[in-house]
Amino acid sequence: MKRFAAYVFLLALLLTGCGGPVDPDTAQESIQVLAMDTAMLITTYGERSPAAAYACEDVIRDLEAKLSRTLENSEVFRLNAAGTLEDLEAELRTILSQAGYYCQETGGAFDVTVAPVVSAWGFAGGDEYRVPSQEELDRLLELVDGSAVKVNGQTVALGPGQSIDLGAIAKGCAADRILEVLQEYEVPRANISLGGNVLAWGDRPDGTPWRVGIQDPARVGEPNAFAGVLELTDAFAVTSGGYQRYFEQGGKTYHHIIDPATGHPADSGLRSVTVTAPAARKDDWNGTMCDAFSTALFVMGEEKALEFWRERGAGGTFDLVLVTEDGRVVVTEGLADRFTLDETSGYALEAASQ
Ligand code: FAD
Ligand code: MG
Repeated sequence: MKRFAAYVFLLALLLTGCGGPVDPDTAQESIQVLAMDTAMLITTYGERSPAAAYACEDVIRDLEAKLSRTLENSEVFRLNAAGTLEDLEAELRTILSQAGYYCQETGGAFDVTVAPVVSAWGFAGGDEYRVPSQEELDRLLELVDGSAVKVNGQTVALGPGQSIDLGAIAKGCAADRILEVLQEYEVPRANISLGGNVLAWGDRPDGTPWRVGIQDPARVGEPNAFAGVLELTDAFAVTSGGYQRYFEQGGKTYHHIIDPATGHPADSGLRSVTVTAPAARKDDWNGTMCDAFSTALFVMGEEKALEFWRERGAGGTFDLVLVTEDGRVVVTEGLADRFTLDETSGYALEAASQ
């Protein structure tokens, strides 16, 4: 597993360095953290911005150490190796309960027990990419069943032969824990980017909402090539897509989001799914929800995703931006006045209402 010990300071321009008083309106700290095999950027504002930014980094490193399936001493590694764990810490207990709930809610489109299938394709980190045979996939699919994971107090037991992969939910959990830190340190505004998981906290220093670009999946190599931009305040925005982690073989592209019903990379007509939800209270676990739903709705496809949103997203509980393979961007009504299409992208904009 790639493990990056070093982090890079991008901006550390603090007035305290000059010996003068800290201006709470302009003080900021920005650090890049390389963790969970992705580049993360934490920017906090306010008098306590340096301490808050490093506390956010601690959250990420702590969760990576516990939840990675490739780090030998992590809880998840030990659970996968033994099939059971008796000294479950609070984070893993919470995340497993959430994962079980979202597995049920999404009809199994989100399922952390898809781990053996993810590994077979080589997407677990460290292994070679490969296209498994259908026989192998059929055999592994028998192990995929989120309802077989039993959490009881500090004990968790997987079903026989099962293993779990928290790659589709752990960064969302990190964003929730970071929200807690921002509130604890009374950070007035922050922009947290955890590789496709954004937490836009407060507003920008000029009083306008944070602008969160949604990558155009068709122009991944180009800088600032967006399908559109969301204007967000106190919100999570999580994107899942098949355009960043993939391989090509025999002229076909295989990406990392697996449809637990087939064992193959999801082929649902969507190029990316962004889920947004309010970031208000740490106990809402909305960052975790956005992460689980972005993966699940990518698996479901446009029609089922919108149906899912109509049933559960009412009143802004969560909202969606769907980028489709046939050149459309579908935005649900809670984001209608907060999304601006990038005119150079060539997409057609569609609105979805309840
Ligand atoms: P998401 O859509 O949020 O998640 C997709 C990922 O979830 C897939 O990569 C797969 O792991 C899993 N998944 C696929 N289909 C489903 C499904 N239907 N339901 C549930 N889960 C599914 N990568 C490395 O290469 N090396 C590492 O050492 C490494 N360490 C990591 C440690 C931690 C704690 C975490 C959280 C991630 C780590 N990763 C590592 C990255 C990880 O494997 C994924 O690439 C990443 O989490 C994908 O996130 P995403 O937001 O792009 O996509
Ligand atoms: Mg996800």
